[in-house]
Amino acid sequence: MYRINCIGILTSGGDAPGMNAAIRSVTRTAIFNGIQVKAIYRGYKGLITGEIKEFHTEDVSNIIQRGGTILKTARCKEFMTPEGRQVAFETMQREGIDALVVIGGDGTFTGAHIFGQEYNVPIVGVPGTIDNDLWGTDSTIGYDTAMNTIVEAVDKIRDTANSHERLFFVEVMGRDAGFLALNSALASGAEAAIIPERLTKEDQLEELIKNGFRKSKNSSIVIVAESPNTGGAQGLAERMHTEHPEYDVRVTILGHLQRGGSPKAYDRILASRMGVAAIDALLDEQRSIMIGIVNDEIVHVPFSKAIKDDKQVNPDKLGVLQILSI
Ligand code: ATP
Repeated sequence: MYRINCIGILTSGGDAPGMNAAIRSVTRTAIFNGIQVKAIYRGYKGLITGEIKEFHTEDVSNIIQRGGTILKTARCKEFMTPEGRQVAFETMQREGIDALVVIGGDGTFTGAHIFGQEYNVPIVGVPGTIDNDLWGTDSTIGYDTAMNTIVEAVDKIRDTANSHERLFFVEVMGRDAGFLALNSALASGAEAAIIPERLTKEDQLEELIKNGFRKSKNSSIVIVAESPNTGGAQGLAERMHTEHPEYDVRVTILGHLQRGGSPKAYDRILASRMGVAAIDALLDEQRSIMIGIVNDEIVHVPFSKAIKDDKQVNPDKLGVLQILSI
């Protein structure tokens, strides 16, 4: 039996729209329950360097609509070493921090899992990543907003693709996961999605050409997940140039604009609910778990499962995309 008097909160890994809404929710729920909140800046780095500030309810005013993270984020190599984590633990003791809420992706939870076991620290994770690649939750914070950003961009690209009768390869994020590519392809009416999950099995580009894409249309858009498995949009365009020079191909790499912008309502609601659930879980003496939402219900997912188990894209959606692109 232990009592939590003070929690530390940090954001880590890649930023995602809605992280601020999660910071607000965690902070206010903790204060509501009489728990002090210490904001840790720049992810695990701030835990090592001691960049920490007490947060009151007004410190999270007017941030629910803001993209990025007011706590900043960083990739921290020192935390990957036992020496670095030792310093982080000493900082926690010095600051009187009893437990942590970490907002981030699989790397963030891998670090939290190791640290929690090493020093017996209660840690709860909130999934914040645009990639949606964490097992145990239907959606991660930031994914919906990023998908909407992609769809808006593709709508614009289609205007020029149509006018010039061109084939566009539009590259989106998703190194190991095709959620963004596949679902934004469906939502933008793209002809196809080239995703990392499939490329080991067959050559998706050849398949597309064999199936006769663009025969009856005056423009085509193919969404490509940025990944060594797909070769990326540029790699595919180069192949087209040599293998099928009859196509007038262009490439657009959406890059970091996918991470920015004001979170959509869906992500704000997700972040607000998950933040409350993270504090509830700590009060319930849970540790080393990620908060997820499955079928609109809060679930607790052990870090070990969230980071290891594979979350699969629904292969039926590829079929839907193919039917609708004739
Ligand atoms: P995204 O999915 O958006 O990239 P992420 O949380 O996966 O987010 P990473 O850069 O992979 O982002 O991880 C964030 C931080 O977590 C790292 O900079 C490091 O400090 C910590 N971390 C990652 N893996 C480990 C590990 N094996 N041991 C200790 N700490 C780790």
